[in-house]
Amino acid sequence: MEPAHPATKEAIRITDVIAHPLSQTLPKPTVTSWGTYSQVSIVLVEVRTDAGIIGVGETLARFSPKAYAELIETSLKPRLVGQDARNIGALWQSMRRSLSGRAGGMLIEAIAGVDIALWDILGKAAGLPVAKLLGGMGGERIDVYAAAVNWVDDAEADRELERYINEGFPRIKVKVANPVKEACRRIERLRKRAGDDIGLCVDANWAYNLDEAIEVGRALGANGYFWFEEPLAPENEQGYEELRKRCDVPIAAGESNFTADQAQRLVANRTLSVLQPDVARAGGISETRRMADYAGLHDVAYAPHIGMSGIICETASVHLAAALPNFRVMECECDLSPFKRELADLDPGCLRQRNGTLDVPTGPGLGIEINWDAVKRLRVQ
Ligand SMILES: [Mg+2]
Repeated sequence: MEPAHPATKEAIRITDVIAHPLSQTLPKPTVTSWGTYSQVSIVLVEVRTDAGIIGVGETLARFSPKAYAELIETSLKPRLVGQDARNIGALWQSMRRSLSGRAGGMLIEAIAGVDIALWDILGKAAGLPVAKLLGGMGGERIDVYAAAVNWVDDAEADRELERYINEGFPRIKVKVANPVKEACRRIERLRKRAGDDIGLCVDANWAYNLDEAIEVGRALGANGYFWFEEPLAPENEQGYEELRKRCDVPIAAGESNFTADQAQRLVANRTLSVLQPDVARAGGISETRRMADYAGLHDVAYAPHIGMSGIICETASVHLAAALPNFRVMECECDLSPFKRELADLDPGCLRQRNGTLDVPTGPGLGIEINWDAVKRLRVQ
């Protein structure tokens, strides 16, 4: 079959960059140690080219999405228009220089949206799915876990657990918070209810200090949980190193990191067993791949973080997962929000969870068709 957009030796020039700030009410609030989220936002980045190819990307922008859109259109766009969309490395470096100081924060999240769109263009121009451009591992499906049993009362937590088991998930994440005694009780209770054949892990969203984390770690070890996610604040690297020595459950973190250098210390000494960058935060596909590759060198697994994100973030993560040898398992949100349900038209069955797996799209680029009516509908005015 002829690729939709045959590869060309000519440059594919960027003609426009449009940032669409989108907002929605979640179908079901997410309840974590940080609080309850019922409204959430992202920015959809549209990159247009003179070859007629349009790439789409996603920026994690949970709050103030219009501020992100402004940053993309005023600081990044002038560095992109007129350039060859396929020089992703050079464009990334140029965008990085649009603000001074250490790399992080809104700038890297904004770059993420553009970077994902550029990979989408590269794939469409080559007639290949992004997973193959990244050096695919050849799998048609990738393993996911259900996210998540919320930090809600016992009866509701039991219902959520049961629902995920009934939907066929063999692995399920549980949110924990304070008080510690309650968290330990929840850990034991859900293990008993799930039985030994369901894989369980927890996410604390930085709820604990070191002493509390050690206590929760003991409960996790006693109940056979497979990882302890973000027990401490991401800056507390010394705490993570100490916890590693005193906790026999693998530690997972990384969704709060923006760039590879921020994960360096905890990966290099293998404090973390699992690194979880979010592609819509960590500089897009280019920087997330650097992080995952670096983790792989140190026998640390790569497990993509997806949190209250849209279909583009999810799909870009599936392509990375399908391309990287140290991929372990990806997060899968079970309550499909408008950002996932409405923003793109998917092949039947594609990206819909089946027995704890998701399909890897096979079309060129990211392999999704954006529903521009939904973009208009969800756009923040
Ligand atoms: Mg998390």
